[in-house]
Amino acid sequence: MNADVIVVGAGLAGLAATHELVTAGKRVALVDQENAANLGGQAFWSFGGLFLVDTPEQRRLGVRDSVDLAWSDWQGSAQFDRLDDEDVWGAKWARAYVEFAAGEKRSWLSSLGLSWLPTVGWAERGSLRADGHGNSVPRFHITWGTGTGVVAPFVASVLKAAEAGLVTFHHRHRVDELIVTAGAVTGVRGKVLAPDTAARGITSNRDETAAFELTAQAVVVTTGGIGGNHEMVREFWPENLGTPPKSMVTGVPAYVDGRMLGIADEAGARLVNRDRMWHYTEGIRNWDPIWPGHGIRILPAPSSMWFDALGRRLPDPCLPGYDTMATLRHLRTTPDIAVHDHSWFILTQKIIRKEFALSGSEQNPDITAKDRRAFVRERILGKGAPAPVEAFKRNGADFIVSTSLDDLVAGMNKLTDEPLLDPALIRRQIEARDLQVNNPYSKDSQIQGIHNSRRYRGDRIGRTVAPHRFLDPASGPLIAVKLHVLTRKTLGGIQTDLESRALSAAGTPIPGLYAAGEVAGFGGGGVHGYNALEGTFLGGCLFSGRAAGQSLARSL
Ligand SMILES: Cc1cc2nc3c(=O)[nH]c(=O)nc-3n(C[C@H](O)[C@H](O)[C@H](O)COP(=O)(O)OP(=O)(O)OC[C@H]3O[C@@H](n4cnc5c(N)ncnc54)[C@H](O)[C@@H]3O)c2cc1C
Repeated sequence: MNADVIVVGAGLAGLAATHELVTAGKRVALVDQENAANLGGQAFWSFGGLFLVDTPEQRRLGVRDSVDLAWSDWQGSAQFDRLDDEDVWGAKWARAYVEFAAGEKRSWLSSLGLSWLPTVGWAERGSLRADGHGNSVPRFHITWGTGTGVVAPFVASVLKAAEAGLVTFHHRHRVDELIVTAGAVTGVRGKVLAPDTAARGITSNRDETAAFELTAQAVVVTTGGIGGNHEMVREFWPENLGTPPKSMVTGVPAYVDGRMLGIADEAGARLVNRDRMWHYTEGIRNWDPIWPGHGIRILPAPSSMWFDALGRRLPDPCLPGYDTMATLRHLRTTPDIAVHDHSWFILTQKIIRKEFALSGSEQNPDITAKDRRAFVRERILGKGAPAPVEAFKRNGADFIVSTSLDDLVAGMNKLTDEPLLDPALIRRQIEARDLQVNNPYSKDSQIQGIHNSRRYRGDRIGRTVAPHRFLDPASGPLIAVKLHVLTRKTLGGIQTDLESRALSAAGTPIPGLYAAGEVAGFGGGGVHGYNALEGTFLGGCLFSGRAAGQSLARSL
């Protein structure tokens, strides 16, 4: 045998499982199709936002959270409707995960050196119903160091274990088959790929140089989702989301290819909830791309106006930062706009300065470098938007800037094959909205939401600008952003029990096979159900990866 355990996939889930195993003195073969530069997988690129419940950071900002409120929100979001079948384990994972997020998650991660920004973000405000989707309170805790800060202690642990001889790296080894011996998974087979010195995130070659085989007492599959594989995204596109767009931007590196799901299926693992995905509607084309079709997600706060491809304001709850899936559904199932692949934000310089954040470690160099002074200088005291946002405004193919609304709309019309927008229609809607900002109350739900947001200190300081007239030149210039659907997360996958043991079609654990992270729907084959509360993906990788490692450490 080559090791006690083979872990396939050196992303966050694989590293968390390996960390637990080596802490217990087990030997691990860590296999990944990419080179050593890609250690940490997607998590390295991530924003590092974590779903935590009832924390000191929340309490300092006057947020009253509890496990009961978080669980109520989770159920309203997940909307589990396959409870006697595909959701049976996802729902159990969900309850365990909410308890983890309200319990030892923060102290465990603190003990590994993680810390969080003092302002807690309010992501996915939801569907405007107490029992519906969304976070009732701010819970998105951004890690100092962003995603690179989240992976750092796990990378350090695994590298140290490699030095001690407990971890053997098998980079550029692509797994094509799980070896099944008398009903148990005993190893992996695949191809050694040609060496490639590509920098992190850049697509590497797939030239095969040799075959390989590794054996162990168990295999943990932590190979991520399908977001880099548009063909697969289209194949499993949810029925309730209408038709997939003809073109999408890609929010993950090319190695998030989903191949391993089929390979696990062939070995007898049960795949569930494959039609559940989490793609964003606020994607923009990266002017400085790293991977093919590289898109960046705008993390919007509540003030931008959102229009469909024909220039009509989106209905509730399709407001910036509220309800990702409702917005995607609206855009993809309304017949006259589903034929187009885009929508629009219109906003002001005042709004972009305070409200635009871009997801990703490389788009937030101040937080990634844990540079607190730069953070305050750029985001609190600065006159412009943070430098990466200003760079997009200047160089991004999806941005139009103008002091005149007519010129702005003319510029927007030039970004589509034919002019689809009527300047008079857009002007009418903006003028009507502008008439709503003079009172501390309003009949307009978006303006109500802005007032609500500013009653939360964290948003008032750093994320939500005071209501102002869009057509007041002092707030300008005006900015339009063409938005694309951006592929990102896979909510379904390999069904697992609470020890991350992969289950067969009969519902029984397959001896020797474990799965964790995105490939396992972040636990159970779908811990999120239909919707995410955000910041739940990194935590899901940690929680399910840790469960796999701990279970194996106990049983081997
Ligand atoms: C830009 C960005 C921002 C994000 N922001 C956040 C955030 O703020 N909060 C949050 O919670 N989540 C966020 N996420 C999501 C989160 O980062 C991912 O869901 C998570 O990191 C997935 O980790 P994983 O270990 O499951 O898989 P991955 O990181 O995808 O790792 C899988 C690894 O498996 C390897 N692999 C795949 N197939 C094979 C094979 N056949 N053989 C060998 N190796 C294979 C791949 O090469 C890869 O290295 C973000 C993601 C991105 C891209």
